[in-house]
Amino acid sequence: MNKSALQKILFQLIKFKSETRNQAEVKRAVDYVGTLFRGTQYGVKKFAHKGVHSLIIFPTRSDWRYPKILLNGHIDVVPAHDMAQFKPYEKNGRIYGRGAVDMKGGLTALIGTLLELDAQKIKSDVGLMITGDEEVGGAHGAGFLVDDMGLRPQFAIAGDAPRRSGVAITIHGKGGVWVELTARGKSAHAARPWLGENALDKLHDAIAKIKRTVEKRVPSDSWETTVTLSVIETDNQAPNIVPSYARGVIDIRFTETFAVHPDDAHRKLKAMVPEVQVTALTKVMPLINDSKNSFIRDIQSSFSHTFGEKIPLVREHGASDARHFMTYKIPSILVGTIGDNWHTKDEWVSMDSIMLLKDALFAYLKKHAT
Ligand SMILES: [Zn+2]
Repeated sequence: MNKSALQKILFQLIKFKSETRNQAEVKRAVDYVGTLFRGTQYGVKKFAHKGVHSLIIFPTRSDWRYPKILLNGHIDVVPAHDMAQFKPYEKNGRIYGRGAVDMKGGLTALIGTLLELDAQKIKSDVGLMITGDEEVGGAHGAGFLVDDMGLRPQFAIAGDAPRRSGVAITIHGKGGVWVELTARGKSAHAARPWLGENALDKLHDAIAKIKRTVEKRVPSDSWETTVTLSVIETDNQAPNIVPSYARGVIDIRFTETFAVHPDDAHRKLKAMVPEVQVTALTKVMPLINDSKNSFIRDIQSSFSHTFGEKIPLVREHGASDARHFMTYKIPSILVGTIGDNWHTKDEWVSMDSIMLLKDALFAYLKKHAT
């Protein structure tokens, strides 16, 4: 597939206003991708679970649940900065629009790879999963397909690692747990606070203790567990009353030194601050792969060959759909395209990086022809 054919697909994809909350548009986008595979060696299976739309492309001669290699990506985007972001345009080799680099550009490379394998009559045991709720955690897309529908590839490759420059293969990602802390005390007049029990003080002390214990140093780009206080509130509005209730929410992103499973992280927090109630709101599995796994070594050497330099295996702070395969010990990595401003205005992707990713994946997958 040449650049202009890929660019045409990317423009079409960006025009769909597929914000996660707009599943009607997600469905239209998913249907459009399905039409691209008419008359090819691939079949298309569509899913709708709890209102979230997703799609699996698979070689018709095999079971869609068990591809050897599964490419995966998401078609949903975070809310647009303004509606003009859904009108893609090109400038100096960059394509601008909401989702350009996160990750409709990557998705275009994945689609292009499969279409090119088909055009060259290469039969390979490769599927493609496209989901519609990655930006809110992926429970009803990737989570549903893997946990409930039994999707079990031997190896998963997500095209969802946007970078500002360079090429890398992401094999580690932090785990996460968002917890709600609830403190209860006893109301009293602030002139005689010793008659009450201040819930805000209790909450404040618990948060400080968690930060002190869990966050080893000031958060930075280094590989450390971070604690972000994101919500704090009380029902008390009067300046002269001791509050009897307070609630806070913290977002913890942990490395393997703190925990290897969000349940462990949650348990540790509960033991750390027994004076408040600790409820887990969201749990995110960390992405942990063995760098010596044969699939990972194989794709690293294939990519290094294509790009003419040693492609590094790296860690990323953020989470993605790639983690949904971890529960089943399926090696799962991320590669991506180059661009900037994801989740903000002026988001763009480099068209050349889409072509390069497609070429690198094609060269890698060709070796897995059946
Ligand atoms: Zn993404």
